[in-house]
Amino acid sequence: GQCSLACPVGALVEKDDTDRVLDAIFDPNKTVIVQTAPSVRIALGDEFGMPKGSIVTKKMVTALRMIGFDKVFDTNYGADLTITEEANELIERIKSGKKMPMATSCCPGWVNYMEKHYPDLLDHLSTTKSPMQIFSAITKTHYAKQENLDPKNIFTVAIMPCIAKKYEITRPEMAHDGRPDTDAVLTTRELIKLIKYIGIDFENLPESEFDNPMGTATGAAAIFGATGGVMEAALRTTYEWLTGEEMKNVEYTPVRGFDGIKEAQINIGDKTINIAVAHTLNNAKILMDKLRAGECKYDFIEVMACPGGCLGGGGQPIGTTMEVNKKRMESIYQIDKNTKYRKSHENPYLKQLYKDFLEKPGSEIAHKLLHTHYQARKKQFDFEK
Ligand code: SF4
Repeated sequence: GQCSLACPVGALVEKDDTDRVLDAIFDPNKTVIVQTAPSVRIALGDEFGMPKGSIVTKKMVTALRMIGFDKVFDTNYGADLTITEEANELIERIKSGKKMPMATSCCPGWVNYMEKHYPDLLDHLSTTKSPMQIFSAITKTHYAKQENLDPKNIFTVAIMPCIAKKYEITRPEMAHDGRPDTDAVLTTRELIKLIKYIGIDFENLPESEFDNPMGTATGAAAIFGATGGVMEAALRTTYEWLTGEEMKNVEYTPVRGFDGIKEAQINIGDKTINIAVAHTLNNAKILMDKLRAGECKYDFIEVMACPGGCLGGGGQPIGTTMEVNKKRMESIYQIDKNTKYRKSHENPYLKQLYKDFLEKPGSEIAHKLLHTHYQARKKQFDFEK
């Protein structure tokens, strides 16, 4: 994996959750619901002899059904909700001028780093939860009600490119009524292990589609897997909401690619928004030191802890190189291009969800379920000083 001793995410000892997930699948009382992160579908094929960066979304869905999950949904649906809430939050902050700049918070490696090293700057983190956690919170509330399921009997599994996500689900604020929103995280590597354990011939699997309503997502959600993707997705929605005009060319290239820190200015209506995108925590440190020193000119900052973003995450197949990461990035933008809707707020199932349940972005119920808070944390190891 990508994690070294500098890894902020507690990934020094890798925890295997495959047994716990199989126990839930074999428990007749449990409905086991799985969601898959944007970066898993472009990395999973690596281990099955397919060309690096192959887009294997539909084979992955088939494999997950064969493993025994009752519903196969998409974290990207959660990503569309994250963007809708986060864009709304950004606009509120821009208008009030408070807690600026806003920084993304969907990467638990980054959030953990902030809580330990920059506790004085926690106000800058967006309060919007990560796609994984938003997805699970909706699963155990609105979806459970719709399907007449007791949330106690729902077991939610997230397939992630990430080891830090295993820690994120144990945060006490990520639970409702004493139950965690997400019950288990499996890394891409653990999913590969399960597929091999069951003896599935992955490369020759037939293709199938995600279940709905939480299997439909936009291209904006797909690009979450690449550094710069959350920023680009958020800008697509922020632009339209601030100006009331359609964004014709949705591809915002200044935030794409592998540069350690990418900076740009974007004019939205009568406002100029300064943005910065960083991947790896060394680059994040440069931005945060500037912010602490009062030298930060940005309005909106995206940080991902892993090189290239989640596509190069610590839970991806061993042997990930920058060459491989490039292929994965191309595939991610390809998925965006080929998706019918490309702005999160256009997701038809999400519109329905706001109508039926969440009312509007930033509503009281949205805050209760889709937002979180942060706290200063002690450093655990000497090397973290
Ligand atoms: Fe996890 Fe790395 Fe993605 Fe952060 S960038 S969410 S640590 S895989």
